[in-house]
Amino acid sequence: LATARAEQLDLAAAQEPSTGPPPALHFVQRAKSRAPAGAALLETTIDGRLQQEVERIVDDELGALEQRRVGQAAVVVLDNASGNVLAWVGSRDWSDDKGLGKNDGVTALRQPGSALKPFVYGLALSRGLTAATVLADVETTLATDTGSYAPRNYDERVHGPVRLRAALQNSYNIPAVHVAELLGPARILATLRAAGFSSLRESAEHYGVGIVLGDGDVTLLELANGYRGLANGGVSTPVVELRSARDAAGVPLSVPRDDVPRRFLPDDAVALLTDVLVDDLARAPAFGLDNALDLPFPVAAKTGTSRAYVDNWTAGFTRERTVAVWAGNFDGTPMKNVSGITGAGRIFRRAMLAAMRDMKPGPLVDPRRFETAPVCPLTGVLAGPRCGHGIAERFLPGTAPRAVCEGHARVATSAEACAARASPALDLAPRYRSWARGEGLALADGQVRCHEAPRAVRLLSPVDGDEFAADPTVPSGQGIPVRVDASGERDVRVALDDAPPRALSPPYATWLDADPGAHQLTLFVDGRAVQTVRYRVD
Ligand SMILES: [Zn+2]
Repeated sequence: LATARAEQLDLAAAQEPSTGPPPALHFVQRAKSRAPAGAALLETTIDGRLQQEVERIVDDELGALEQRRVGQAAVVVLDNASGNVLAWVGSRDWSDDKGLGKNDGVTALRQPGSALKPFVYGLALSRGLTAATVLADVETTLATDTGSYAPRNYDERVHGPVRLRAALQNSYNIPAVHVAELLGPARILATLRAAGFSSLRESAEHYGVGIVLGDGDVTLLELANGYRGLANGGVSTPVVELRSARDAAGVPLSVPRDDVPRRFLPDDAVALLTDVLVDDLARAPAFGLDNALDLPFPVAAKTGTSRAYVDNWTAGFTRERTVAVWAGNFDGTPMKNVSGITGAGRIFRRAMLAAMRDMKPGPLVDPRRFETAPVCPLTGVLAGPRCGHGIAERFLPGTAPRAVCEGHARVATSAEACAARASPALDLAPRYRSWARGEGLALADGQVRCHEAPRAVRLLSPVDGDEFAADPTVPSGQGIPVRVDASGERDVRVALDDAPPRALSPPYATWLDADPGAHQLTLFVDGRAVQTVRYRVD
């Protein structure tokens, strides 16, 4: 084995003759350490061309970041289906002894900052929270074994009631700590270990809720393979480095392989999590729309920055590939003003573009897995008439909220004044009041809520006189969309022609079979027929 050199790896075959050192030297060390006894020739999973390109990207981007004291970076590219390691860059320059270039940033233990948050939020989505669940981003002090602890957001501000989607995509720390408290560090740790983070060897008590903010050290390889597990719907298998091995006489040796899949999160929760991670709009408040994670194809990604700017991460996946990047310094020198999105993010962007070249990206999430409901951005429940434009949020079937927003209220000084002088105000839980006052928002405190007659329930679709034509190019499953504008706990039913009425629950939408002919649809509210529409299907 001592004679195994980079030139003997298959990556060398794809590469032009070069006078510089052969690429992937960190990976060569790794491959040797994984080789079966007696191996003299190893065929690895590295894609020689991609490896060289990623090495160039790292060198190029670090050259541009020197002013910000970013000396090193490491990158892993994985094939999602097979787990094959396609590129492995351990440092900027193997031969740079001053910059500790022989250190391997792929296997070094470091604090991941916010890069583990997706696993925690995925667990939350599997345990009853939705993308619209409101989390409190307000000044918070937690009692811990070692004294009190006040988590802070990256922007040093608080943002009041924040929906889970926005909390994750803007990487707010305070809501993340609340989620970690809710789930408990032990359950989070078990999920992370099942996702392959075997470096997290300490107890749940040792990490505490800080596990969600990256208090436990992990490797870039674990991070890459954890994200690959998300790409694979919540199932983890180990990465693969070796394709084959031969002894000195050329006889094939068996390469031990552990490919027993381990599920660490349910498939449907991972689908919703992926829908959040791919959402550029949701992260715009903190990162802007024109950021390094905005690629020409959908990418589910997350950044991380450890405290004091020592480590900087970006990890993400398409259907086909996972890329994870660390940037920092091996001696722990802090960087200057570098966030995950500007530091590692730029390398991530270019490495992902290279990894996806000549590939047709498959869809990351199937929107048919979700139902959509209009929610109030402030309270996360169904938007009412005073909530302004509701946000169309996606829910796993059966999990959309049923309650209508009570937070957007109309108030007056007395019940008698409601008719003449009611004004809009927010009726929020006490913990949000300090935030709301800071934002200059009108609060309902000390005034009387004015109640209005409930809104009339009506059919939005179909409307009277609609004509539908079947599309001959679609083989089956065509239907007539039924949508009812209703709110609150009402008994809403629709009856087609002479069929018995069928109940609708929030968000009060369904499909009817598109049987040719003339039809009539009747809407019942609390047992009374209130509206009938007629439509045709040709
Ligand atoms: Zn509202």
